[in-house]
Amino acid sequence: MPRVTQRGYSSGKYEAYDCTECLGHFGSAMFNKMTFYNSKRNGRGQRRSRLVCKACKTKMRCSSCRTAFERGYWSLNERRNHSNSRTKLVCKACRAKGFHPRDLRAHTCQTCACTFGSHKFNKTQIYNYNSSKSKTLRCLQRTSYENERVRRPRHVLRQRRHI
Ligand SMILES: [Zn+2]
Ligand SMILES: [Zn+2]
Ligand SMILES: [Zn+2]
Repeated sequence: MPRVTQRGYSSGKYEAYDCTECLGHFGSAMFNKMTFYNSKRNGRGQRRSRLVCKACKTKMRCSSCRTAFERGYWSLNERRNHSNSRTKLVCKACRAKGFHPRDLRAHTCQTCACTFGSHKFNKTQIYNYNSSKSKTLRCLQRTSYENERVRRPRHVLRQRRHI
């Protein structure tokens, strides 16, 4: 039964445990022996300390999309801030969508119907929308496209000055 062994079940033991991080269901071999021992000992049958599987121990998850990345994926700063002050981690894909460790809320653009983090929207617009002063929410992707037409003449002028 190769699939069973892969999920961390040792022969004769089919008890499964939940990882508090990924909520996965694994056999005891998928957990670090020490974590496992501590969490069993403290609780008198009840598990008290957090049980985290080996994969979650070595990987760090994006707080926004919950994808686990190897430690090397994150910069030293990100890792340090995350372990010191529990700063949220946001992966590159989520950052590109406008998500930020300080603001993980998702907003849907009314023009393109895409969901983005707050950095993809105008700050005042987001503020007005969140405080229900305004009902309009359009992402910057669309706005910058519109602005381009307005900005172009000025841009051309600047180029001419360079020549
Ligand atoms: Zn896990
Ligand atoms: Zn992410
Ligand atoms: Zn949009």
